[in-house]
Amino acid sequence: MTQARVHEVAALPPEQQAAALEEKETDAKPKSTDDYLKRAEKEFNHVQKLLNEAMKELRLLANGEFGKYLIASIANTSAKQVRNLLRKSVPSSRCKRCKSKGCVVCQMSGYITEGMSEPIS
Ligand SMILES: [Zn+2]
Repeated sequence: MTQARVHEVAALPPEQQAAALEEKETDAKPKSTDDYLKRAEKEFNHVQKLLNEAMKELRLLANGEFGKYLIASIANTSAKQVRNLLRKSVPSSRCKRCKSKGCVVCQMSGYITEGMSEPIS
């Protein structure tokens, strides 16, 4: 379980923590490359969705009574950068250098992103 997930679960009401832990435990270990990549994509899509929702709210705030000093176009530029970062950071294939055993290139994950160049052997 990631540190972020530990904090997420800790923030839940006590009656929901056990269920949340159980839910994560069942899919804690990826069964295959496809499973790993599918799960990674799902988590990235989740964050992307949250970002889109936040940007929608931000635009409403910028156009509303209190948003006078909030410059939505600047926030949009930042959001575009985050979207771009998310797109480039999602693991998309097995690391060819180490054949998923873990190396410096893939930071011991066994996977690389589409944006990463072919590793030098
Ligand atoms: Zn590697």
